[in-house]
Amino acid sequence: MSKGESVDRRRAIKRTVALGVSMGTLGAMNSGPLRANEFESIKTAIKPSNPIADLVIVGAGNAGIPAAIQAADLGVRVLLVDKNPFIGGMLNISGGHISGADSKLQIEKGIEDSPALHYRDAMRMGKYSNNSELLKIAVENAAAMIDWLAEIGVEFTPESPFFEDDHEHYSSARTYMGPDYGRSLLGPLRTELEKRIDRGDIKLLLRAKVTKLLQDDSGTVTGIAVDDDSGKASDFMAKAVILTTGGYGASQVLKEKYNPKIAKSKVVCLPHASGDGLIMAQQAGAELINMGHFVSFPGAIDGARGRLMFPPKHYPQGIWVNKQGERFVNEHAINPDERERAFLAQTDFGYFMILDKKSKINNEIGVKDWDQQQLDRQVSSGIVKKAQSIRGLGRKMGIPVQQLVKTVTEYNRSVVTGVDEKFNRQRLDSPIDEGPFYSIPITGSILISHGGVAVNHLLQAVESSGKVIDGLYAAGETIGSAQMMGTAVLSGMSVGPAITLGRIAARNACQYTQSQDSRVASCLITET
Ligand SMILES: Cc1cc2nc3c(=O)[nH]c(=O)nc-3n(C[C@H](O)[C@H](O)[C@H](O)COP(=O)(O)OP(=O)(O)OC[C@H]3O[C@@H](n4cnc5c(N)ncnc54)[C@H](O)[C@@H]3O)c2cc1C
Repeated sequence: MSKGESVDRRRAIKRTVALGVSMGTLGAMNSGPLRANEFESIKTAIKPSNPIADLVIVGAGNAGIPAAIQAADLGVRVLLVDKNPFIGGMLNISGGHISGADSKLQIEKGIEDSPALHYRDAMRMGKYSNNSELLKIAVENAAAMIDWLAEIGVEFTPESPFFEDDHEHYSSARTYMGPDYGRSLLGPLRTELEKRIDRGDIKLLLRAKVTKLLQDDSGTVTGIAVDDDSGKASDFMAKAVILTTGGYGASQVLKEKYNPKIAKSKVVCLPHASGDGLIMAQQAGAELINMGHFVSFPGAIDGARGRLMFPPKHYPQGIWVNKQGERFVNEHAINPDERERAFLAQTDFGYFMILDKKSKINNEIGVKDWDQQQLDRQVSSGIVKKAQSIRGLGRKMGIPVQQLVKTVTEYNRSVVTGVDEKFNRQRLDSPIDEGPFYSIPITGSILISHGGVAVNHLLQAVESSGKVIDGLYAAGETIGSAQMMGTAVLSGMSVGPAITLGRIAARNACQYTQSQDSRVASCLITET
């Protein structure tokens, strides 16, 4: 871990705590009866003639746990390794929304839908830059994934499947969630994992960071190098490796390299999303694709807790202006994609919400859980600016004052005429004309990363020439969310496909391990 990464990790932990989920809580949630094999005991049990596993899965998260369960059920001996002291990865804090057409639940509710419709929606929303082949596999297998989750005991809210408001609506109600968000999925997955660990089909190693993929002379992946939490290194050999290490939203180094524009956005994913799988796969020869597609959600408060509420849940009274003092989007656009794209185009990747006294009186602040007291507190802390005139506000904000005055005047005129000529905003309830005026600084927030490891339809990692790297598979956010979402963020299309494609990668890797049976698998310990 570089110095930059370690600072980044500490900051991200702080933010996680700010989200109300402490690392201690995460550990406690996932400790209990789950028996992780201790590093030492695994090492001593391993003899070259008695390899520990046919298949290594790196990352016991959203994609890795279902992959391990699937592989174990196919009779393959699995070693599941995670650097965290707990399992579940991002499911511990994720919204846990999943999407899919034609599940039993959706059919029972009489909702008309089909995987073909899901595919068409996703391609259109992703501006046709999704991986059409993989997307097709994911949507065609989504119902089986959702039915399987229900079978193992995942409970969905009574409204599921529904239209999710945080993202552009699909043409049919096809998003599901549990009452406890991602943790509603994690609970039953954990139980299923535990059963296989008890049966001896899966060995789970926690606090073990995989640092490198081992390859033979032909480039075939033959195992992993792992550091335990004291930094001791060991090599574990296997016939195949699946990378399910998640994305790189928490890696300042990778964001500065590939997405400098959004690098300062607020990180709201967990610190383990440091792109380890991408780095290791690239070192092994794999291509990284879609690295420029990063989407940072508009709406985090720069410097404070809270996030903007968007239509249709909330209609803030104010306007949004960029650092040039200009409006740049229909603030009430029902389609979040419209706001996300407009936000991505802003030079400094930040903007301000401008309110006046009326908004405050009506408690229409538009920030989740912010009331008048909270707004006043943020004024005292200097994060929110307050002034008796728009001119004074502009000066405090440090943006072009004349332009801000012009923007507010134009907006107020739109309220009178009922027509927003610039952005066709429909809700023009009240002018911004009564001091004191407020400015709330907004920035982007990072949940998922769109770039990742290039894979083929079997989830095998591939080089830029298209050549398959034998023995190496990847699924989940490691392959990048753009594979499913293109340049957009689609409802439930990260958590769901992580499970679907994780299971499919496991099936393909199992077939591969069987084809390798003539090779003598071994496990070497090379302590340094
Ligand atoms: C706040 C939030 C809300 C979200 N809500 C939704 C939603 O509602 N719907 C949706 O579709 N998506 C959502 N997402 C995105 C989604 O949760 C993630 O994309 C998805 O869960 C990632 O799954 P994964 O298996 O790829 O990675 P993870 O679940 O992050 O698992 C990766 C695992 O790999 C381990 N690991 C990493 N590197 C190493 C290494 N070197 N050695 C060993 N282990 C390693 C990590 O410790 C971790 O346990 C949300 C994300 C966030 C942050």
